[in-house]
Amino acid sequence: KLVLVGVAAAFVAFQWRGPTLDPESLKGARVLVTGASTGIGEQIAYHLAGFGAKVVITARREKVLQQVVEKCQVLGAQKALHIAADMANPSDPERVVKFAVDKLGGLDYLVLNHIGPSPFAMWDGDVEHTRWLMQVNFLSYLQMAKTALPVLEQSKGSIVVVSSLLGKMCSPFVAPYSSTKFALNGFFGTLQHELAMQRSNVSITICVLGLIDTDSALEKVKGFTNIQAWPASEAALHIITSGATREAESYYPWFWYYTCLFRDWFPYFRDRSIRNFYEYEH
Ligand code: NDP
Repeated sequence: KLVLVGVAAAFVAFQWRGPTLDPESLKGARVLVTGASTGIGEQIAYHLAGFGAKVVITARREKVLQQVVEKCQVLGAQKALHIAADMANPSDPERVVKFAVDKLGGLDYLVLNHIGPSPFAMWDGDVEHTRWLMQVNFLSYLQMAKTALPVLEQSKGSIVVVSSLLGKMCSPFVAPYSSTKFALNGFFGTLQHELAMQRSNVSITICVLGLIDTDSALEKVKGFTNIQAWPASEAALHIITSGATREAESYYPWFWYYTCLFRDWFPYFRDRSIRNFYEYEH
């Protein structure tokens, strides 16, 4: 029995090594990465630069973007440019895509990764914050996808959406953030069907991430939980690999796939264990 369990475990682990990336396929690829001034987006930009891609990065802070661009150039990017934009401003998403298409002479990958800051706390009834966050984390993704789709159709390109386990499972302290991630999974999951039915050239990859060790994420959960955070650089490489291999959905770390698979089997125990992840003094 033990041998059988071992063989099954080895099989699962082998499966979850996932598809392998051909770095050559990214040489000269034209990529727009959002939320690339810090965290996972910044790491995505560095990996792409190392593969010799042409990148446009965006976020709000111009000076920080400039520093990331300089590092991308050192790492080997064929081209590295930045454009400062605030995705809360409804005209910025389209402006950013047009800038990237213009400067890169087309587009192969649109990596949608940015998020606006949101408190890690019990919901306090602030509807306006959720409305604002919906524009930043969700509606701006739709606006960028809409503008990029005709260009990606021509280049047989891809949209890569960085989502979260909190867009698959409900958890305390993240009501506005979680709403935007559920919305993303619903919207881009539907779009995947529609593009396939229309025999579109464009692939959509939805990346579902667990806790990653970016400064902003660790700062938020500090004092609430000790759950392990996974490295941002590895998460970034996983996102690039999933997009370049045109996977429909991918999970990092891989085991969260099984958590989502069995999510609704034992709801009582699931909800108890989710609450037990967190320290909370009533
Ligand atoms: P960070 O908070 O480190 O980075 C967020 C990025 O978005 C920054 O570049 C920030 O730059 C930019 N940004 C913030 N507000 C705006 C705005 N209004 N307009 C444009 N850009 C903005 O996030 P992470 O790297 O931790 O997360 C990246 C992605 O990974 C997100 O989609 C997140 O949901 C997902 N994820 C992360 C997890 C984690 O544990 N870290 C877990 C699961 C998913 P600037 O301030 O310069 O604008």
